[in-house]
Amino acid sequence: MNIEAIILAQKKFFFTNKTKSVTFRISQLKKLKKVLKENETILYNAIYKDLGKSEFETYTTELSLIYHEINLALKKVKKWSKRKRVRTNFANFPAKSFILPEPLGNTLIIAPWNYPIQLVFSPAVASICAGNTVIIKPSEVTSNCSKVIAKIINENFDTNFLHVIEGDIKETTELLNTKFDKIFFTGSTNVGRIVYQAAAKNLTPVILELGGKSPTFILKDCNLKMTAKRLVWSKFLNAGQTCVAPDYILVAKEIETEFLSAIKLEIEKNYPKNNIAENYNKIINLSHFNRLTELIPKENIFFGGQFNKEKRFISPTILTNISFNDKIMESEIFGPILPVITFDNLDKVIAEIKHRAKPLACYIYSSNKKNVNKILHELSFGSGAINESVMQLSNSNLPFGGVGNSGMGSYHGEFGFKAFSHFKSILSKPTWLELNTKYAPYSKKKLGLLKRLLE
Ligand code: NAD
Repeated sequence: MNIEAIILAQKKFFFTNKTKSVTFRISQLKKLKKVLKENETILYNAIYKDLGKSEFETYTTELSLIYHEINLALKKVKKWSKRKRVRTNFANFPAKSFILPEPLGNTLIIAPWNYPIQLVFSPAVASICAGNTVIIKPSEVTSNCSKVIAKIINENFDTNFLHVIEGDIKETTELLNTKFDKIFFTGSTNVGRIVYQAAAKNLTPVILELGGKSPTFILKDCNLKMTAKRLVWSKFLNAGQTCVAPDYILVAKEIETEFLSAIKLEIEKNYPKNNIAENYNKIINLSHFNRLTELIPKENIFFGGQFNKEKRFISPTILTNISFNDKIMESEIFGPILPVITFDNLDKVIAEIKHRAKPLACYIYSSNKKNVNKILHELSFGSGAINESVMQLSNSNLPFGGVGNSGMGSYHGEFGFKAFSHFKSILSKPTWLELNTKYAPYSKKKLGLLKRLLE
């Protein structure tokens, strides 16, 4: 079937109302979990070929998050999709009011390469849970994962309901030229703009999960040992190719030396030189490898800076003596390079960040509540953590998404259900009583009465 035929078939299928049944949604979510479980090994192999990602990291940062979203959806879908009674205002007396969640219809999910399994299935779970049909377009960059995802989904699910279309810009453009009821895009800010423009032509609502430079504050009163531990894990996970990874460090001048020693120690502990390959991923392709190595000025290397083109390996690298004007501060790094900027005036760095694009995430390592709250209050960003990084996205009770240049809309847990639903407002009136005040012919007396009642 070609793309047009698949979309048409999904439109027809949605109109049968089958996906609106909660029982159907539950059965499909259960099936998805089963299919993923049965195919874990081929998924592990595919992601290893694409990114050199270990089974451990694939489970913790991809599969376990999907299973968690499925389990939560299975538990809550009945409650989330129920109509909710709300109060009725005086002007409508006597009446009942309720909100009826309904699926939007036909949805499209476009995914990136950096978490090629999780970022396909987490939004798909939300869309299925809300009662939509789904077309998934995985990233062509992680070609092994894309192939496996297409195989396991297309062999196990009805095309009319859930289908994977592989491809690159050509296929994505064809998909974007069609009218969907929701487009969920995860990827770069530049392609986000293309998606948004294409969606606008059809007035299709979008969720854009984009990137950005996520600042990480290290204030003088932080617990240095714990800071280094959590920071090194979150930055070098997936070799820094994580949308919410700390992009750069802002460290208080007084503690810069101790901070750098703590970070160095922690990297040596986590990624010992003799068996680094077991726990550390490759750079996705040569073009990203070249882009990243050009971002490492020799004179700024405090730690690391080793690379191997053939293996697409760049060691965890710390750069010092960096200022906001350096090249590395121009765009999202998306790799294992961590520039460190020192500061002695918190207000000044906050002011600098305010003038930049709104980040996807922001992290604050400190025990000083006043300063933590100051940063939280003054800076706008998608999500964040205090004395931690990245882990906020594993809590489904927190909406996950960006703001401004880092995206729009959010998902995970109930927020995902809401992202793929329309909330239909209904006023239900009985016929046994009607006040004549709102009807013509109008009169001063009626207006006076209305004013007394409504003001
Ligand atoms: P990308 O924007 O290059 O690609 C994403 C998807 O868009 C792919 O499926 C690709 O095939 C498609 N695409 C690429 N160019 C296109 C075009 N011209 N027209 C139509 N479709 C096109 O992003 P990427 O390199 O795969 O991923 C990295 C980016 O994604 C980073 O900026 C990262 O921060 C961001 N990201 C964000 C999140 C989040 O949750 N906010 C998560 C992961 C990655």
